[in-house]
Amino acid sequence: MGEWTDNILSAGVTVRHGVSGSELTTFGSGGTVEWLLAPSDVAGLMLTTRELRSAGVPYRVIGGGSDILLSDEGYDGALITLSSLSSVAFAGDLVTADAGVKMPVLAHKAADKSLAGLEFMSGIPGTVGGAVCTNAGAFGRSISDALVAVVLLSERGEIDTLTTRELAMSYHRAAIPQGSIVLSCLLRLKGADRGAIHRRTREMAARRKATQPHERSAGSVFRRVGDTPAALYIERTGLKGYRVGGAELSRVHCNFIVNTRGATTADYYAVAERVRESVKKQSGVTLEYEVERICSPRSN
Ligand SMILES: Cc1cc2nc3c(=O)[nH]c(=O)nc-3n(C[C@H](O)[C@H](O)[C@H](O)COP(=O)(O)OP(=O)(O)OC[C@H]3O[C@@H](n4cnc5c(N)ncnc54)[C@H](O)[C@@H]3O)c2cc1C
Repeated sequence: MGEWTDNILSAGVTVRHGVSGSELTTFGSGGTVEWLLAPSDVAGLMLTTRELRSAGVPYRVIGGGSDILLSDEGYDGALITLSSLSSVAFAGDLVTADAGVKMPVLAHKAADKSLAGLEFMSGIPGTVGGAVCTNAGAFGRSISDALVAVVLLSERGEIDTLTTRELAMSYHRAAIPQGSIVLSCLLRLKGADRGAIHRRTREMAARRKATQPHERSAGSVFRRVGDTPAALYIERTGLKGYRVGGAELSRVHCNFIVNTRGATTADYYAVAERVRESVKKQSGVTLEYEVERICSPRSN
């Protein structure tokens, strides 16, 4: 512990040292993260980033860890979680949601207010911050359809508001300015019958349950190729069930790699790379990763 940790501890930031990456990602792999910091409010976050910058400690924000894999070598710096920024406020058909709100929680709260448009979020194990950064979507809808604006903490430590248009959101992409942190977002929903919203949510949950694996995963491994799901190309390779260490190409959905037991991030990528090579050889298509690999900043 040093001066910067004392300063943020006194501002109510939770500080943990030496946290296993497997705790922080839905796939459950990765080495030790040097620092995990959880500010309780925006002021605490602003102080944390200022202190880290002046102490020269590299940092980045993570959400639910459902679209990232942490390197087995760990993260030599600080990961910041905004799980305490978790307010949701409704005003007519508008909703403001903090970055740390879990998507299924937001979907549920909106449904209870008879507001439709976020049903697709109910089975996605990420946060609002992660959803904005990845333009999360399913069943033909994505967060950009409802998003009005996003409040960000810029790399310079200033609070900015960007409209959806300025974020130029496309399939699983959003142009978040380099180093910015999503604090909250404003969404416009549609009034609808509460029973019908809950019914649609249940239907989507049932479709997920029937078509996706139940083991730990990081969601889809590869992006769509144009309008074609990556799974269509992967299916043809016959690699379902292919395994390295504890990582296995799911037999239920072949664009998922599941952690059967104690998989490392290296196991995950060994399976994924074998799939990429086979698809390239067979179909001439180069699959692009949807999942993001987070390596130690000092190893780059
Ligand atoms: C079982 C399963 C099913 C899934 N189904 C879907 C699906 O149907 N549709 C879909 O789109 N995705 C799906 N995913 C993938 C994933 O849940 C989404 O991409 C989700 O939006 C990621 O959110 P997260 O909070 O987990 O972000 P993380 O994985 O923690 O982070 C993703 C990126 O966002 C950045 N980030 C996160 N929060 C912030 C913030 N506040 N400010 C700045 N940067 C931030 C991180 O640094 C990282 O670059 C699925 C994943 C799993 C495991």
